[in-house]
Amino acid sequence: MIFYVACWTEDDGVYSCGHSHQSVRDAMNCLVPDGGSFIRAHDNGLLRSLNNREFIDFLESLKEMPWSWRNKAQGCEFTVPPTVNAEEEPP
Ligand SMILES: [Zn+2]
Repeated sequence: MIFYVACWTEDDGVYSCGHSHQSVRDAMNCLVPDGGSFIRAHDNGLLRSLNNREFIDFLESLKEMPWSWRNKAQGCEFTVPPTVNAEEEPP
């Protein structure tokens, strides 16, 4: 069974939202737009990075996030906000 959590980093470590989201899209509701957030999959008891298919879900869903629209540059070109990542940023 796989579920998804939103994670973000604070000065003292990595936090997750603590939910068991059934989809990447659902977990994205817990992302903090400017908080260096990312989504992790909880797969058989292990937190892992998103796979390619899940990352596509992430990108597709990102367009529909209300905070994404606010962050969007004018024009129809879609860009990923630089502070929101599907992957944890390297230290
Ligand atoms: Zn959550």
